Amino acid sequence: MTTDLAAFAQENGVKYFMISFTDLFGGQRAKLVPAQAISDMQEDGAGFAGFATWLDMTPAHPDMLAVPDPSSVIQLPWKPEVAWVAGNCVMEGKDVAQAPRNVLRRLIDEAADEGLHVKTGIEAEFFLLTPDGEQISDPFDTAEKPCYDQQAVMRRYDVVREICDYMLELGWGPYQNDHEDANGQFEMNWEFDDALKTADKHSFFKFMTKSVAEKHGLRASFMPKPVEGLTGNGCHAHISVWDAPGDAAKTNVFAGEGDGQTGEVGLGEQGKHFLGGIMKHASALAAITNPTVNSYKRINAPRTMSGATWAPNTVTWTGNNRTHMVRVPGPGRFELRLPDGATNPYLLQSVIIAAGLSGIRSKADPGPRYDIDMYAEGHTVKDAPKLPLNMLDALRDYDADEELKSMMGEEFSSAFLKMKRQEWDSFVSHFSRWEKENTLDI
Ligand code: ADP
Ligand code: MG
Ligand code: MG
Ligand code: MG
Ligand code: MG
Repeated sequence: MTTDLAAFAQENGVKYFMISFTDLFGGQRAKLVPAQAISDMQEDGAGFAGFATWLDMTPAHPDMLAVPDPSSVIQLPWKPEVAWVAGNCVMEGKDVAQAPRNVLRRLIDEAADEGLHVKTGIEAEFFLLTPDGEQISDPFDTAEKPCYDQQAVMRRYDVVREICDYMLELGWGPYQNDHEDANGQFEMNWEFDDALKTADKHSFFKFMTKSVAEKHGLRASFMPKPVEGLTGNGCHAHISVWDAPGDAAKTNVFAGEGDGQTGEVGLGEQGKHFLGGIMKHASALAAITNPTVNSYKRINAPRTMSGATWAPNTVTWTGNNRTHMVRVPGPGRFELRLPDGATNPYLLQSVIIAAGLSGIRSKADPGPRYDIDMYAEGHTVKDAPKLPLNMLDALRDYDADEELKSMMGEEFSSAFLKMKRQEWDSFVSHFSRWEKENTLDI
């Protein structure tokens, strides 16, 4: 593990470090620091005006410093003279409580105090569009059911292969790439890891995918629903909990009897309580997993051109069945299918741990398992809550969930709600074409 960034630069021919942090809206912000100056920066951090980002600060706040975490350093495979390193935000000697990576680090520590070490894998789907973001980049990618389309994935081989090669080089353990369920949509999968590592990789994956796409004259988009009527960009999270972090992990404490297919579902007591926490807080945590106005065009959506949205509407769980909010695909883990491509990589992991830990502490019951096709038979389920219908409902559900707010941190929760409510106000005050079309002749 790298501890000294100046030595890392010397050994690897790095000329610039990109000290990066992620704000509340998931934006990645960075300063480019020449290797010559990195020793001081590693000690003191790179300075930022917090107000200039989405962190709920005023112009009068003192400097915010992003102190690089050297264990996160990644040399850009497409530009090896630059290395990305995640920073932890500090102000006047204290962690900035609402900064997403700090929220996650605090929750990881809380879980570790109880002997719980969360490991996750994510599936960050994306579209490859024309540079203006208006069209699917491949004009021949028009099939009604384009999932796994062999011809279409090969037309984007240069982009997909380049990203996958880089993941191989970085040792992430990538294992498959495919054309997804929407025209122009792709998914690339790599091995699960400790929650903080997955959050850093998720951030870097978005940066890398956008950069490689740009290099090829395209635009990669993780927007939840970039094209009306087509399947949206999900960001499913697979979750398990272990007895130790990293390679020291030996026992999956979620594992239980069964295989996820029939009979017992394959989750033990801890796994069921963790899942219980996710189910209990689902409507509130949607504010984090589905954080944009556009997110609610993906969940609760009408059937897409391919025949299914693959996104949930209701708070239900099941075995190996992709029509529910939670699927248990095999023993010892479950898949949360709610998150979308707009979710903040650090807050996604944070809210999973916050809700899961609260479930374990309160021995929460996940409720009944439903083995039905939710798209066809969802109306028969009477006692399961519906997911929020829009961003404002999700923010209200989050605000009403005192337990989740306090697990995520009061300072974080109030900053997040304030920034997001401002965003909602901006959206509703936007004068839209729809209004004119539907109200002009009233
Ligand atoms: P699917 O499309 O069937 O939902 P993928 O293969 O696309 O699944 O993605 C599965 C993700 O789950 C990968 O990141 C994988 O590493 C991760 N994963 C597998 N086993 C576990 C586990 N025990 N804990 C956490 N994540 C896991
Ligand atoms: Mg200046
Ligand atoms: Mg997948
Ligand atoms: Mg997928
Ligand atoms: Mg999945």
